[in-house]
Amino acid sequence: MKIALIAHDKKKDELIRFVTAYRDVFAQHDLYATGTTGKRVIAEVQLDVFRFKSGPLGGDQEIGAKIARNEMDMVLFFRDPLTAQPHEPDVTALIRLADVYNVPLATNMGTAEVLVKGLSEGFMEWRELIEDKGEINNDEV
Ligand code: PGA
Repeated sequence: MKIALIAHDKKKDELIRFVTAYRDVFAQHDLYATGTTGKRVIAEVQLDVFRFKSGPLGGDQEIGAKIARNEMDMVLFFRDPLTAQPHEPDVTALIRLADVYNVPLATNMGTAEVLVKGLSEGFMEWRELIEDKGEINNDEV
């Protein structure tokens, strides 16, 4: 599965602890992240991560584009609900696209935990079926 990791600044420590705790699971998947989040996961958890631009510089939009092309299976986005973000419109757009394409997206650690446990149990296999059938196409709208 292709999994995107994003954490706002005040949530980055929490995300690192989370990815460390589930390192064995994450090591079996393709990881993507916004720039700074990815840099920390690579350095502190020693996992391979494809890094997009930093969130405020367009990284969230790049991940949104992957979702729109059916190239992202899950998004774990540790949002900071208490700090204003300059790129809030990008964050909203990313969440909207996840809803458009039914891509599982967590915005906090509690939900992320459920998604990652579900991933280990095989609850995400339906994503492979969709990819195999090419069910998402550009003619839908
Ligand atoms: P960052 O971006 O990982 O580059 O800090 C995250 C965000 O704020 O969207």
